[in-house]
Amino acid sequence: MLNVALFGPPGAGKGTQSEFLIRKYNLSHISTGDLLRKEIAAKTRLGLEAQNIIRAGGLVSDEIIVQIIEKTITENPESNGFLFDGFPRTYIQAYILEGLMLKLHTALNCLINLQVPEEESVRRLLKRGETSGRSDDNEQVIRNRLREYNEKTLPVLQFYRDRGIYRAVDGAAPIGEVERAVTALVQDELSQQLFNVVLFGYPGSGRGSQGRALAEKFGLEYVATGPMLDHEIRAGTEIGRRIAALYENGQLVPDEIVVQLIEKRLAGTRGVKGYIFKGYPRTLVQSYILDGLLKKHGSAISQVIEIEVPMLELIRRLDARSQTERCMPYDTSTAKIVKRLHEHESKTVPVIAKYNELHGVVKVDGMGTFDDVFARTSAVVERGLRSRR
Ligand code: AMP
Repeated sequence: MLNVALFGPPGAGKGTQSEFLIRKYNLSHISTGDLLRKEIAAKTRLGLEAQNIIRAGGLVSDEIIVQIIEKTITENPESNGFLFDGFPRTYIQAYILEGLMLKLHTALNCLINLQVPEEESVRRLLKRGETSGRSDDNEQVIRNRLREYNEKTLPVLQFYRDRGIYRAVDGAAPIGEVERAVTALVQDELSQQLFNVVLFGYPGSGRGSQGRALAEKFGLEYVATGPMLDHEIRAGTEIGRRIAALYENGQLVPDEIVVQLIEKRLAGTRGVKGYIFKGYPRTLVQSYILDGLLKKHGSAISQVIEIEVPMLELIRRLDARSQTERCMPYDTSTAKIVKRLHEHESKTVPVIAKYNELHGVVKVDGMGTFDDVFARTSAVVERGLRSRR
């Protein structure tokens, strides 16, 4: 998730920059000013309470703001992130925002201050007043709004300086220049976020070898549940013995075992660029678990890839593998191979469909040599990394 707050006096260009950012980064736009104007137009209780204060250029009470904002944030839990425009405007609102973000297991990445001299604000707002139809865009109210800004809103900056997430740009520059400066700050934030890929494919599609090679090429951590489980078997742990028995029957390992191993893995890797998950999630339940685990680390899935190979080719590959020393305990017989393919079809294909709706799944042709397929999967990851920039 990417959560950014745009800060600045009235007329700093927060609205203009917001429009640009929400489109570029697919964020949910939260403008408390717009939300209040909607409440007023709908003549709700909150709207009626706020109306006169806005008309006079004052700040609406934190009590009203918290009500309108909580509703909007909790209605968008699947959002890519939030762009806050005109919020927080008081020290109390900064605390409110922190609490709301925590509730969603996330945090504000940065607050960007669009610095504009007071006279420039007044000039812009008077110009906007000629066409905006806003009752608060006239000189007397504008002066009031600026006074409120200086007294109540400016002190908020210290809150973010203390947390080390305060950033500033020259908001008096031409729009294009401000856009570039804001983008550079956001890019910087994004480059610090984890890039997480989920790699799907039927057994025999080559997802394991592709996943390992992709992880190495792009400096990501390879998280494959298969090898983690094998490790337990080899170590002869209690969990390992249970896993071995399940493998014999071609069954999936229960979630409470897998989740512990993944959690241990995520907790044990610091300072990584991101993860490639292979062989997980395999069921819808596991997809919810993975979302939760990533959220706990302030992260989310960045890209989903599916390697496609026709069924007959899969069977041919798995059968060939079963006759070499690379034979896995779960492909020692045709019956086991068929069972595994069936498990994928009945349990994992619905997960891919779900991810397709949520994130879009990039399909990659898995036919050809390892290098052919690697060129394709690499290009997809490369594009994914680039699209964040
Ligand atoms: P804006 O559209 O952001 O310029 O906001 C217009 C008016 O709505 C402000 O002058 C305030 O009266 C009110 N308002 C908007 N956001 C807030 C907020 N976060 N806290 C208090 N009042 C707000």
